[in-house]
Parts: sequence; structure tokens; C-alpha cells
Amino acid sequence: MNRRRFLTHSAALGAGLPLGLQPSPFSWRPTHRQGVDGGRLNAEIQELRRFGGTPDGGTHRVAYSDADLGAREWVLARMREAGLRTWIDPAGNLVGELPGTEPSLPPLGVGSHIDTVPFGGSYDGTIGVLGAVEIVRSLQSAGERLQHPLHVYVFQNEEGGKTGSRLLIGAVEPGELGVQTASGYTIQEGIRRLGGNPDDLQASRLEPGALAAFVELHIEQGATLERAGIPIGVVEGIVGIRRWFVTVTGEKNHAGTTPMALRKDALVAASHLVTAIHGTALEMEGRQVATVGRMEVEPGAPNVIPGSVRFTLEIRDLSMAGIQRVFDAVREEAMAVEAETGVQVEMEPFYTSEAAPSDERLRRAFEAAAEQGGRGHLRLPSGAGHDAQSMARICPMGMVFVPSRGGISHAPEEFTPPDQITAGVEVLMGALIRADRIF
Ligand SMILES: [Zn+2]
Repeated sequence: MNRRRFLTHSAALGAGLPLGLQPSPFSWRPTHRQGVDGGRLNAEIQELRRFGGTPDGGTHRVAYSDADLGAREWVLARMREAGLRTWIDPAGNLVGELPGTEPSLPPLGVGSHIDTVPFGGSYDGTIGVLGAVEIVRSLQSAGERLQHPLHVYVFQNEEGGKTGSRLLIGAVEPGELGVQTASGYTIQEGIRRLGGNPDDLQASRLEPGALAAFVELHIEQGATLERAGIPIGVVEGIVGIRRWFVTVTGEKNHAGTTPMALRKDALVAASHLVTAIHGTALEMEGRQVATVGRMEVEPGAPNVIPGSVRFTLEIRDLSMAGIQRVFDAVREEAMAVEAETGVQVEMEPFYTSEAAPSDERLRRAFEAAAEQGGRGHLRLPSGAGHDAQSMARICPMGMVFVPSRGGISHAPEEFTPPDQITAGVEVLMGALIRADRIF
């Protein structure tokens, strides 16, 4: 952010706010303020590729690997340079604290992750972490203090199942700690490698209200923003997910001697149902998605009419009620298929991930910050999971997206132009400053 923009930024911040949300007197000394240093930030994003960077522009830095450890040490040094008091919590998350002027207030949280999927990209997670550090430096060099303490989080093993953030909210089953990760280490071994203590995980728990609010900047990982030509995405929430095994049972029989009219072909019935699932999610109002991603046909021989088909059904929506609506419609379709074809359809749930709506006050804070910088914004759901989803269980949560070129992520081609990253960090900073007064 240049100086001129910062001045307009500061002048407009107090305008139009309801009473009680006016800036407190100690804030806003525009003459001393400096903006986010986009050059420094984007150089650091590239520098972090020293740890696990691949020649094709991607990054291979799975949690608990040597590259992950090296990157965390490097980020820890940047956090300390920025003036944060840092520690590693028992869950292995890296945390840095910037004191506030009102130490009795619960901290505001900001952050993301720096681990990647195997042979992934260089922006997913990283921009949210280095962006948060850049915000701290900007506040420091401007002599600006927030009322709330600010906690910068570098969550561990996001890509392996949001382990670090889920440990904070007590959502990890003990058995999970023994699971081997892409690094070759189990989660328990990994936590030790990071400097955490798997025997004392309870000590890292955050109870509801432990943070005043949590915000995260992330790449969109979809093409909505790029297609719309809009730089800022205000996340309405992280979608919930439910999955079922669907079993269609027909009649196995000889493929040569059984007349067409007498067949109870499980695969033909399943095909009708798959088409109906797609059509239901497509035609219903809303932005729900439904997917059949895996199918097994029994007995699976060219000369036998399929006797049974088992497939997965996954439905995602911003609300669990929305998921149920789609499922109810699918169940009606299944009954119709049963009636028409004589097969039996059973649906058995096997996975649920609760939806995490963002906080309306934080959505507005992001929008106001975007407008201050003259940047277009739109609201959109997040179809992917994020650490912010965990944090929504203990405090108001907000997320902001910047565009992903071609909608590509989890691949070396993952890319967001430097100016769009800088814009996202400025909006994140503007929202944090607003959150400091709202919560
Ligand atoms: Zn991520």
C-alpha cells in the first residue's frame, strides 16, 4: 500500500461506522503509517521455495519432512525479526504474539499453513502465513498498535487433514496420531519432530472464546474470481460434506440367454441414478454439488449381467440442511429407479464434515477493506477445507480469497500474480484493523 492510499484508507475508516465502532483515539496516526511492502512479501514467497521448491515452479514440502522443518525455522526467524514473541505449542503449531494495548482482551488470530501436498504449488497456505507476518511488520513500522493481542498461527499438517488446527479444538481421535503421513513419519512422530509434545496435547486446546476472531487469507483454488475478473473473494463459509455408500442390488444372470425385458441389471439402474444425482444437484436452487466418484460392479465379467453395484455419493453445501435437501431428493429418485427397474437401493452414510459459515461482521469488514482500496469483491463459498474451518468452532471466523490462475491448485502450475497477493494482504490487514474494533 502506498502512502497516498494509506491516507485515504485512514480518513475513511471512521466514516459511516455506527457509534461504538468509531476508531479509538489512540489509533490512526496516518503520518506515521506505512503500507504493506508487496515487493518484500512476494520476494519472501519465492525465497521460501528454498525449502522443497521443484524446478517446475512448484513445491514439495509435505508436513514433518526436512523441507517442512527448514521452512518453519526460516519463518520462525522472520516472525522474530518482525517482533513477535514465538513458541511452538504442544500440537506442533508455530505461534507468534504481538501484544495489544488491552492485554485483557482475547487475541485476534490470523494465519494459515506452509506444508504442501506432494509435488504441489508454492502459494497454497504460504501467502496466508507470510502475508500475516508482513502485516505485523507493517503495523510495527507504522508504530500502530491493535487493542487485542494478535496471534499469528502457522498450523502444522494442513494438507494431511488439518491436524494442527483440529488438535487445537480437540477434534483429533487418539488413534489418528499413529497414522503414517506422506513424510513417512506418523503424526505423533511428526509432532515431536516439529518440537511439539504429543503426550501433552490437551495443553494446546483452545476453548470457545479463547480467540476474539480468526481470519485467513488463501488462494481460491477455483476459477470463480479469475472468470469474473474480480481480485477479492469474501468467503461465505466452508462447505459441509456428507458421503454415502450406495448399493444397488439387481439380479446376476447370463448375458447371452436372458432376454432384455426380463433383466434386473444393477448397473443400468445405477446409471439412471447417477444421472439423476447429477441432474438434481444441477437443477436445484443454490450452489450445492453432488458427485459419484467411485463405482464397483459385481461380478464384473463381460458375460454376466451385473448383480450389484456399489458407489459413493458425496454432497457438499454451505449448510448441512442444504445437503439434506439434496439427499432427500436423491432418495426420491432412488425410489423411482427401484419402482421402474425392480432393483433395490440402499444408502449408508460413512463420512460427515460440518459446514463452517463465516461471520457476517467479518465478511463486511473484508468488503469495506476491499472498497477502501478501490478493489472489486464478490462473495463465494469455499469448496475446499481450511484451518479456518476448525477455528470457526471456537470463535467468529472470516476468510478472504485471491484468484488462482486457471483455477489450478495442488500442482506446480498453481499461481497468483504478485499484485493480487499484495491486494489480498492489504484487505486482510484492513479487516483485522476493523475486527480489532468490532470484537
Ligand atoms: Zn491451503
